[in-house]
Amino acid sequence: MAQTNMILLGPPGAGKGTQAEQLVADYAPVHVSTGDMLRAAVKDGTELGVRAKQFMDAGELVPDELVIGIVKERLAAADIQERGVLLDGFPRTIPQAEALGAAMADLSMVPPVVINLAVDDAILVRRLSGRRMCRGCGAIYNVDRDNVDVGDKCPSCGGEIYQRDDDCAEAIQERLNVYHRQTSPLIATYAGQGNLLAIDGSGTPAEVAGRVDEALAARGIGKCS
Ligand SMILES: [Zn+2]
Repeated sequence: MAQTNMILLGPPGAGKGTQAEQLVADYAPVHVSTGDMLRAAVKDGTELGVRAKQFMDAGELVPDELVIGIVKERLAAADIQERGVLLDGFPRTIPQAEALGAAMADLSMVPPVVINLAVDDAILVRRLSGRRMCRGCGAIYNVDRDNVDVGDKCPSCGGEIYQRDDDCAEAIQERLNVYHRQTSPLIATYAGQGNLLAIDGSGTPAEVAGRVDEALAARGIGKCS
């Protein structure tokens, strides 16, 4: 089986989780997030995991060198060497991207294609600000999908429906601004290297998956049969 390596980028609300599941089903890479890798290294008590745990216990960010070391250890494992990797939430910065490129070259891995799901901020704000919760049972609803809004009663328990402060339009726009500031240089770098697949992330999950498949096929990357 050919090793297919992918990096999935996209703002909150762009539907990365759904597309990641589809990519795993169709192209069979090993799906890993930085959080998963860190937790596994800590649990297994690897040397890097033990060092990372000291930062996590102190409530501090784990430094890049440690994160990259842990990512490289994970990339070297047999499952990824055979099937390839789908990286989610990493890299986030240019230094991380450079270190990742060097680690993959060291391991003689095929350079990754970078799938960037682009969705207009206005659509993301609309999607994310439609979230409502129940004070009674904690159920999560969406204004558009479930037709449940503040002032209604929870369909399952009759409790009060409310909107979290984090889900208001202003807070979401600020989160998106932070995301764009952080990742635009990274996206520009990957585009400059010719490794970026810019995908229109609007529409249904199936429509987006169709665009991803077309872009991958244009690179000679086909689905597993
Ligand atoms: Zn409820």
